[in-house]
Amino acid sequence: MKEYKNSDRFKRSPKPIRENTHTSDHIERWSWIGEEGKTFAQINAPDSGYRKALINVPDYQGNTSIINHHLTYDIEKVGMIKFEDSSKQDLIFGHIEGTRLGQIFNSRKELSNSGIHAPLMHGIWGRAQEGACSIVLSGGYEDDIDKLDYILYTGQGGQDAPGGNQVADQEFTRGNKGLMLSKEYRLPVRVTRGFQVENGPEEGYRYDGLYYVTEYERVRGKSGFYVCRFYLESERNIDQLEEELGETLPDNYVPAERIESTVKKINRNIKLREKIKSMYDYKCQVCGVRLEKPNGAIAIGAHIKGLGQPHNGPDVIENMLCLCPNHHDQFDSLSFYIDPSNLEIVGLKDLVGKKLFVNSRHNIDANFLEYQKKRYLDL
Ligand SMILES: [Zn+2]
Repeated sequence: MKEYKNSDRFKRSPKPIRENTHTSDHIERWSWIGEEGKTFAQINAPDSGYRKALINVPDYQGNTSIINHHLTYDIEKVGMIKFEDSSKQDLIFGHIEGTRLGQIFNSRKELSNSGIHAPLMHGIWGRAQEGACSIVLSGGYEDDIDKLDYILYTGQGGQDAPGGNQVADQEFTRGNKGLMLSKEYRLPVRVTRGFQVENGPEEGYRYDGLYYVTEYERVRGKSGFYVCRFYLESERNIDQLEEELGETLPDNYVPAERIESTVKKINRNIKLREKIKSMYDYKCQVCGVRLEKPNGAIAIGAHIKGLGQPHNGPDVIENMLCLCPNHHDQFDSLSFYIDPSNLEIVGLKDLVGKKLFVNSRHNIDANFLEYQKKRYLDL
């Protein structure tokens, strides 16, 4: 039997109702759906006009399969109702009634039926003219970076198969253009994480609430092809997310420190700076010097692509370096750059041909080095 999704839409067809041949309960339910149409969620709701018209049908109460059965009859047998293909249906922005943050869906089909993310394969539910209302993180793109409350999300396209190799550049078209519009118009984007990603649930797909696109750029991905990259921030802070998602987070998830939410961002920033310094034992990644002072060693956790305007770089360790004060000054004032292709230090006479030292646990994103290099070359 046919099963409809909550987000599917139904409308009265142009076929006229004949008062003398159609029974009153039929006429009642078709008229209730009307020309403006209703979603399956509305039709299937406990107090819907459609259900009320079925009052004489045995077991009609709360039974979704009876609603499915009668709708299919209305569409296929008598042609009084029109089913609108979900690929043409309106995007739905924001919260979906009947769903909650942290809710787990067993499959993409279940997720789709809930109305959170209609497409069964695509990671982005959006259109070039209308924006994007939902994304799914399922590990298909190697350039994604996910910090739970903060995501660097790779757009769609350019792969040889879903989740396969990047074999072509991505463009700001279709869903990618949609996500651009979501930034321009500050539209909320629903985020769902799959079991495939680090911060996802153990099984299935988990709905993680609303995020906003704060930035986008087209950058060279790890494969060497250009990808569209979107920065998304949760409307909730990290404390709220950790609390609400609680038990569904993986066992190895490391919680952020509990700090007042108003100063949370600043403190997170400090925490990351401390993390990168201890990762390198306070040794400069450029010169290897560990600068000892009476109160301990001095090093600086520096962002490659600056945090504030106009750079708007992300506060993630993939965008950071551990530097001594001298090389920090020189890096910030564009006295040298690090070649993203081979990590060679370029511009310092005393370090010709030398490469940046990188810890194997430190996954520097080449796009941020590229950004700094471009600034150097533009000088
Ligand atoms: Zn140094």
